[in-house]
Amino acid sequence: MKKVVLAKGRERSVKRRHPWIFSGAVASSDAAERGETVAVESATGELLGYGSYSPESMIRVRMLGFGASEAPSAGFIRRRVAASVARRARFFSPGSVTDACRVVNAESDSLPGLVADFYHGFVVCQFTSAGADAHKREVADALMAEVPGCRGVAARNDVEIRRKEGLPVGDALEILAGEEPPELIEVAEGAIRYFVDVRHGHKTGFYLDQRDARAAVGALARGRTVLNCFSYTGGFGLAAAAGGAASVVQVDVSADALALARRNAALTFGGEAGDVAKIEYVEADVFQYLRKCRDAGRKFDLIVLDPPKFAETKAQVMKAARGYKDINLLAMKLLAENGVLATFSCSGAMTGELFDKILAEAAEDAGRDFQMIARTRQGEDHPVALSFPEGLYLKGVVLRKV
Ligand code: SAH
Repeated sequence: MKKVVLAKGRERSVKRRHPWIFSGAVASSDAAERGETVAVESATGELLGYGSYSPESMIRVRMLGFGASEAPSAGFIRRRVAASVARRARFFSPGSVTDACRVVNAESDSLPGLVADFYHGFVVCQFTSAGADAHKREVADALMAEVPGCRGVAARNDVEIRRKEGLPVGDALEILAGEEPPELIEVAEGAIRYFVDVRHGHKTGFYLDQRDARAAVGALARGRTVLNCFSYTGGFGLAAAAGGAASVVQVDVSADALALARRNAALTFGGEAGDVAKIEYVEADVFQYLRKCRDAGRKFDLIVLDPPKFAETKAQVMKAARGYKDINLLAMKLLAENGVLATFSCSGAMTGELFDKILAEAAEDAGRDFQMIARTRQGEDHPVALSFPEGLYLKGVVLRKV
């Protein structure tokens, strides 16, 4: 097996079972292929474990096993996929609230660079590292065999980070095993029904990671006027409507997302698309729409802010902070007395502490007191390995204006 030797002192994070070895930590390496499994040694020649080699990436090696005893042997992909699916058994049991969940969450499920999401019979993967991509046939076969009721496995290759790994980026859904998924897959989440577009939708088609937060917002919605900013295909707004909200405004800049949000409302509540009287759809930029509401003196009892990633890297965090502060301050001002703000950040580079600080500053500028009544995070099917804190990217805070 080819070998990667680390620079002096750089074995420490590997010993703590952190899965990434950056290019700067490598002293020398054999010329391994993209995605090839290599042995990793410390500067003193100690065998630290095994990982997938990625010659073009800053993350040069992603660890597959630590120490001599965790050498990836034949069938390890199948065993890891099986273990990962088994951890999600409750999502496949008859009483499950949903028929859509993440079945493999990359590094935190010991399958670096592999995300696999299940939508009512179909699995859609993203292979975001050279190592994961090199094993994609084996991964697809394992998912077909191990995911209960799996009819087909496909891959989304339109993820930009594939470029950093020297992997091709393309728009077409790649069918890896079994049947081709339909244009829209219908899934259930509690009382809500969604159409998921696995070809053009965000991520693998849906924000599975916000399931628990949507339920939390639904439980707070009774009798309230709700503003759901960055609605995508309806998520929080539908949960609020099902939870007994008095009215819901869904705001998104994407006409396609709103069109699907209407269809999801019709699917959930019956009737023709969009004729659910208490739900209004606004195609607008949230930054502008919030200002428009402010100028019109409009108030809401419950506001949801679930923006896209404002910070892709640590370098962008300060600029992102201004964006978060801006929308949170505006939303705080639009809240009626005792109103609730459910606010989120899905930027991994934005820490929970910094997000809290931004919210505290916004509250100060709004000149009002707020109580924190809940915190949310990505759901149980998006676990975070303790040795890989980078895996926690989604943070939510629920505040009440007092
Ligand atoms: N809350 C959703 C997911 C939100 S994803 C759910 O639970 O499913 C973020 C959404 O923000 C996307 O639909 C994107 O179209 C939208 N978006 C991005 N920038 C925007 C902007 N400036 N104004 C309005 N919508 C925006």
